[in-house]
Amino acid sequence: MLLLKTRNELFDFIQYIHAKKLTLGFVPTMGALHEGHLSLFKKAIEDNQYTIGSIFVNPTQFNNQADLIKYPRTVEADIAKLEIIGCDALYLPSVEDLYPNGLECESIDMNGLDVVMEGAFRPGHFQGMATVVKRLLLQVQPTRAYFGEKDFQQLQIIRQMVKTLQLPVEILGMPIIRESNGLAMSSRNMRLTEEFKKKSLFIYQSLLKAKELSSHYAPENVICKIEKLYLNSDLKLEYFTITEEESLQTTQSFDPSKHYRAFIAVYAGDIRLIDNIQIR
Ligand code: AMP
Repeated sequence: MLLLKTRNELFDFIQYIHAKKLTLGFVPTMGALHEGHLSLFKKAIEDNQYTIGSIFVNPTQFNNQADLIKYPRTVEADIAKLEIIGCDALYLPSVEDLYPNGLECESIDMNGLDVVMEGAFRPGHFQGMATVVKRLLLQVQPTRAYFGEKDFQQLQIIRQMVKTLQLPVEILGMPIIRESNGLAMSSRNMRLTEEFKKKSLFIYQSLLKAKELSSHYAPENVICKIEKLYLNSDLKLEYFTITEEESLQTTQSFDPSKHYRAFIAVYAGDIRLIDNIQIR
């Protein structure tokens, strides 16, 4: 696998891809790779003639500095995993490669998708994320880019941004990969204590419960019942909500012609976990 450590090295690689008119799949990540990430890479390898990943822990999308400092960094192990599955290239940019004029965010219109859920609880997170994804897409110029439904709101925001900016790339959303016990895979899981690892199974169980309840109750009632489940839990519920999939807007009733998702954020000790599920 080619390791591209600077923007110039990436540029030479992209020139080669363009000269040969090859299709290029791209998977941007922050590293600490697990099976969830690898599922995106495997799909990219299947769909494209060349596949490139990136690892960059993006400082501007962390609203909490402690979270940025503690974010796991396991580059050597990540490289080994990508080599095994046959990824062609990995871009490891420096902060200067992506933020040549300092750590400022661009103001990117997200059509209101950024003010709810993660946007409401993590101020500035999506502007930071969108800034870095836009810059990565402009630098890498892939045919297709792959994102996980684990971060469903992020995926919808990226789709919106690509449409608004008319970036010539196809965005693909991939299903959430879970541990065998249901916990959604996340780089943050490795920081959970054994006790909270077990307790965190309740997150997926409560999402399944929400899905079951949604065939009998209105969204508001489902939300109320799920919130109650967390009253006696060691997991601290930050939000649980149900929205229509495209607009991410809450609803009074379910329209059978639309799809809906339940979204949750909880604290397991000091680790913040998010998950979601399509309920209708
Ligand atoms: P991150 O490194 O956390 O920024 O994630 C990089 C990409 O992997 C994002 O598109 C995530 O949505 C995706 N991803 C993370 N965890 C999972 C998972 N458990 N299943 C599927 N995709 C995931």
